[in-house]
Amino acid sequence: SSWWGHVDPAPKDPILGVTEAFLADPSPHKVNVGVGAYRDDDGKPVVLDCVRKAEAKIAGNLNMEYLPMGGSNHMVEETLKLAYGENSEFIKDKRIAAVQALSGTGACRLFADFQKRYQPESEIYIPVPTWSNHHNIWKDANVSQKTYHYYHPESKGLDFSGMMDDIKNAPKGSFFLLHACAHNPTGVDPTEEQWKEISQLMKDKGHFPFFDMAYQGFASGYPEKDAKAIRIFLEDGHSLGISQSFAKNMGLYGQRVGCLSVLCEDEKQAVAVKTRLQHIARPMYSNPPVHGALLVSIILSDPDLKNLWLKEVKVMADRIIGMRTALRENIEKLGSPLSWEHITNQIGMFCYSGLTPEQVDRLTSEFHIYLTRNGRISMAGVTTKNVEYLANAIHEVSK
Ligand code: PLP
Repeated sequence: SSWWGHVDPAPKDPILGVTEAFLADPSPHKVNVGVGAYRDDDGKPVVLDCVRKAEAKIAGNLNMEYLPMGGSNHMVEETLKLAYGENSEFIKDKRIAAVQALSGTGACRLFADFQKRYQPESEIYIPVPTWSNHHNIWKDANVSQKTYHYYHPESKGLDFSGMMDDIKNAPKGSFFLLHACAHNPTGVDPTEEQWKEISQLMKDKGHFPFFDMAYQGFASGYPEKDAKAIRIFLEDGHSLGISQSFAKNMGLYGQRVGCLSVLCEDEKQAVAVKTRLQHIARPMYSNPPVHGALLVSIILSDPDLKNLWLKEVKVMADRIIGMRTALRENIEKLGSPLSWEHITNQIGMFCYSGLTPEQVDRLTSEFHIYLTRNGRISMAGVTTKNVEYLANAIHEVSK
């Protein structure tokens, strides 16, 4: 007769559960390579200098009024330039419907709800594997899901022909979720040439590309370079959608600041779409938070702060790239007969190690190393101090 007696506890989130287990482990050797958040070489969270400087500018005089339903227009304008290009004709022609979103997750969810409302019969094609929350997001928006081939386990690289076949065989006018760069969890991206072929084929088939760009700047160290896939699609004349997040590249994780944009056919359509996006947001959270949006707009519109940000993104990306080399070299030094080339071939925050769930279990139980059971190692958690320990443990469990 209890109101909620029938409610079972929800299953643990595969990613957030790892951190919980890590925190509960008293071992001094413990290593967390589970969570997708950047750490410095001491394993400490980082607040960027450009963010501290922007904070100093607003300290004491931040207006706490509500933002408009679509969020900060200034922030959105600056954010669109990062994805579509500084001098984008689409921005000038006001063809982009864009709203501030609750980081990348919120942008994806807003789009999924929009998709359901205005293309109710459509499905979404999602890569295998993908960020686990993609499944939850489109499921809760009641959009049915199909998958497409992406990762090739033998080569630990891209299954390009499988992916192209799936794009070709999908019914005309299908929705495809694409990771714009630094694919999570695999660290495997198509090359520029492959993106061109993907774009052409998707154009021929009349598919709708939706780009999730959670790591702009984290792949190469250059945000502009990491937008290349999107620019190729824009040149090919696609209608498309983009989710942008400042969680990783500005280190604004908990501020929940991002942007959803949809490129429309003309200004009139863009106005209609934008008001509809706001209409979806209104009964969910009314309007987005102000603090992070202000930081982003200050940083992106001040040339000195923007340059500082670009430098700091590069520092983060370079530290991760350095740790890839160090991890690979350390495993090879131990005489492992296996190939570890993929550690340095893959890019972005993650290394899809190829370790089996059983090997991951051993890393955790014998070595106090925490990661998701799919073998995804967050390179951001690797440091000069733990890389040897980690390499040794990986060698031991993969013998
Ligand atoms: N998309 C991908 C592929 C991600 O890896 C993440 C974060 O891990 C997100 C979106 C969303 O992150 P946030 O909501 O913090 O911006």
